[in-house]
Amino acid sequence: MNKTKVVATIGPSSQSKEVIKGLIEAGMDVARINLKHADYDFCMDVVNKINELNEELGTHVALMFDLKGPEIRVGNFFNGEAEFVAGTKIRIYTDDTLGDETKLSINYPKLIEDVNYDSLIKVDDGHVVFQVLDKGQDYLLCEVVTGGKLTNHKGVNIPGVRLDIPFLSDQDKDDILLANTLNADFLALSYINTHEDILEVNDLLINMGNDHIGIIAKIENERALEDLEEIIKVSDGIMVARGDLGVEVEVERVPGIQKAIISKCHIAGKVSIVATEMLSSMEDNATPTRAEVSDVANAVLDGTDAVMLSDETTIGFFPIETLKTMEKIIHSAEQDVNYLEFMDKAIRTETKDTTGLISYNVAQTANYLKCKAIFAPTISGYTARKISRFRPSCPIIAASPNPLTVKSLQLHYGVLPVQINELKTFDRIVEASKKMVKDIIETEKGDKIVVTGGYPFKDVKHTNFLKIEEL
Ligand code: PEP
Repeated sequence: MNKTKVVATIGPSSQSKEVIKGLIEAGMDVARINLKHADYDFCMDVVNKINELNEELGTHVALMFDLKGPEIRVGNFFNGEAEFVAGTKIRIYTDDTLGDETKLSINYPKLIEDVNYDSLIKVDDGHVVFQVLDKGQDYLLCEVVTGGKLTNHKGVNIPGVRLDIPFLSDQDKDDILLANTLNADFLALSYINTHEDILEVNDLLINMGNDHIGIIAKIENERALEDLEEIIKVSDGIMVARGDLGVEVEVERVPGIQKAIISKCHIAGKVSIVATEMLSSMEDNATPTRAEVSDVANAVLDGTDAVMLSDETTIGFFPIETLKTMEKIIHSAEQDVNYLEFMDKAIRTETKDTTGLISYNVAQTANYLKCKAIFAPTISGYTARKISRFRPSCPIIAASPNPLTVKSLQLHYGVLPVQINELKTFDRIVEASKKMVKDIIETEKGDKIVVTGGYPFKDVKHTNFLKIEEL
């Protein structure tokens, strides 16, 4: 069993039940729906299939809804496309002007007012770039810095410019409602600027009576980086959304930012996800490049909780093979993880309350005694999350009677969440732990496990016991 989790985005290449089943069997922990591209029918279809497959396979694959977020786009082109040549001058309007190779429109009314002279306007993930030379009455005069072909409605990024648009559009609000109705486990927020954007979503969720959905903040611009510490505090996890981030900030800064985010999340006990272009070449090929293998492995070595596949599984030709490849790379990289270093870092930054200290001792004991597993019955998932932070070298089997807790743990490093009936007595916990560990992982007579939790279940709010059992 790998400890680093895999999020796979579902799209046209993977929408069939057969392929989703293949992805689950290959190790998908969380299925992501990108609401930039998915409509209501697609969401219903995928959610139904995942629920059916979880029933049929006895799995607990969690669901992530990724909001479209605030965005601006280019308008329509004559014939649906236009080729822009580097060095030429063009005009950008904000009305419905039909575009061609000399002009285009962008659907942001305050564009002319808000951009600066010299601002870069990046379209289609930066494939085509314009630089502002001058401002006319109703247009921007720009030079084409990077030429290329554009088609209708491609996304626009203007690094360094604060756009005056609300964080949540009506569509985002509808999508949050849909995520709530369909019982999504995680909600990923695109283009957040500050932690206040997250608090706004939290208020909406509270008004819907939803206290379980995990909020994943996508870091994809400079403003979010400036407020990173506060964003981490109010989120359940952070996604290093390298696609947009690499357009909004200089692409060469992305690896350093990725490492810093993984480390800060680890210290804060929050989940980190490294996303986008991890195995891009496998959209068209059955094998990855050396650089991609190295990219996935380095994210694992840095201690990320999860890695993510996007286009590889939504439009690629080899969705299942790509996931299998990712799992193989993770498996190999995990043999080289410096678990002690992670544990040291975790204890240095631990608040040192009862749960924290017991969790530390659980992880350390498991490592010293070479235990096969840590068994942690949990109602809320708190114990398992705390232990995960110490990165023990054996799996943490988190057993909960609450199905929402089980799925909420799917993104946590090293945690294998399972559903159980309520365990009422301490003896039942110990008895069930041995049986479940033997059922779930390969063991031999005499192998040791650590059992930990808070007992009595409903009366204590912290972890209060650590017991070593021999199988
Ligand atoms: C990204 O930009 O890297 C990302 C994950 O977001 P999206 O797939 O929504 O563009």
